[in-house]
Amino acid sequence: MAAPELQQTVGKIAGFTGTALHTGEKATLTLHPAPVDHGIKFKRKDLQDEPTIDAKVENLKTVERSTTIGEGSVRVHTVEHVLAALSAMGVDNALVEMDANEPPIGDGSAQPYVDLIKKAGATAQEEPRKFFDVREPMHVEAKTGALLVLLPDDKFRISCTQAGPNNKFTQFLSMEVTPAAFECEIAPARTFVYYEDVEPLMDKNLIKGGSLENAIVVRGEAVLSKEPLRFSDEFVRHKILDIIGDLALVGRRIRGHVVAVKPGHSANAELARALAREHTRRSAMSAPRAIPIGDSGLDTGEVMKILPHRYPFLMVDRVIGFEGENKITAIKSITINEPFFQGHFPGHPVMPGVMQVEAMAQVASILLFKLTKTSSRVGYFMSADEVKFRKPVFPGDTIFIHAELTRARGNRMAKTKCYCVVNDAVVSEGELMFTFLDK
Ligand SMILES: [Zn+2]
Repeated sequence: MAAPELQQTVGKIAGFTGTALHTGEKATLTLHPAPVDHGIKFKRKDLQDEPTIDAKVENLKTVERSTTIGEGSVRVHTVEHVLAALSAMGVDNALVEMDANEPPIGDGSAQPYVDLIKKAGATAQEEPRKFFDVREPMHVEAKTGALLVLLPDDKFRISCTQAGPNNKFTQFLSMEVTPAAFECEIAPARTFVYYEDVEPLMDKNLIKGGSLENAIVVRGEAVLSKEPLRFSDEFVRHKILDIIGDLALVGRRIRGHVVAVKPGHSANAELARALAREHTRRSAMSAPRAIPIGDSGLDTGEVMKILPHRYPFLMVDRVIGFEGENKITAIKSITINEPFFQGHFPGHPVMPGVMQVEAMAQVASILLFKLTKTSSRVGYFMSADEVKFRKPVFPGDTIFIHAELTRARGNRMAKTKCYCVVNDAVVSEGELMFTFLDK
């Protein structure tokens, strides 16, 4: 068996300065090495406390003309070309430090970022890379006419068709995404815009840094740019660049074939979201077949030392394991003796969905307790979003309850994604939010 591919970070600190597209001001971007499993994070050096934002689907904010990520009120705009370069050139972990709310735009391609990565060098780390293997076809469609299909493949491939208004500039390209192919075939392809689209933005002074220096402008049949086209099919190449950058937000390397027709940032983002959801669903379903006792888990007695809940409201029998700091799996066996079955419903016992939400909240609380390592503050269940009940739960079922911390703001707030799984199928799920208060 071949040795697993290892994660990589940059070998040393490297940066460059240029013009920011929207403000027209100078911006400096610096790449820093980062530890394994760090992923790509952006740091706003220009703000108080220098907040960092994870380049993850959960932080995706707007995807109109470019891709914006954010947390709280902090934003980083136009991240797709940097992310494409890092991902395609094989950098899994890096801290991208900036002194502005967007990277220097360069010439509108990914070339300056590729140059920067080559300057910093990519070095292997000790942990294997994380992959997302496409197992069955997935697809997203958008009102714009964009269609993205993802098919199983043992490599990361993109086949893309780009078409302008009235199908002008229709171009097609199919390729395997490797560092070498990206560097030669994709990275130099510049952003292109339609004059009618940018005219109102120029009038409102919203793209102060925009010029023929950093974009190709298409006006009717005319193609305006500072230097001639770098490829006869430069547009479709740039579309592929944007797909790579937007899908980098999944945080794993994709093994699959993206077939894209008239793609755009919003459709790309939809596909990235679908991949992230599918990954979470899969990891929730890889529950152990046996239910260990002791080991790294917690028995009922230990659970009751953490949770104040008691009969008939304790919805956790045993914690069967933690994975790192952020994940927990627990079980609850459902018997016909559960008090709620008396009334829900006589002759037709079905576990109430809200009791599953309660079980998820209790399991998430145990995770947060382990995380904060303090008993002076207590987590209060604040909200439940995206709650879905997918299948009924009957007496005799064993529920595997999974909770994963998806966001934490200091010691004040935490968000978790939770699943209840019975017989390898998700029966319910939800995003539960907690706030911490002094006891
Ligand atoms: Zn782009």
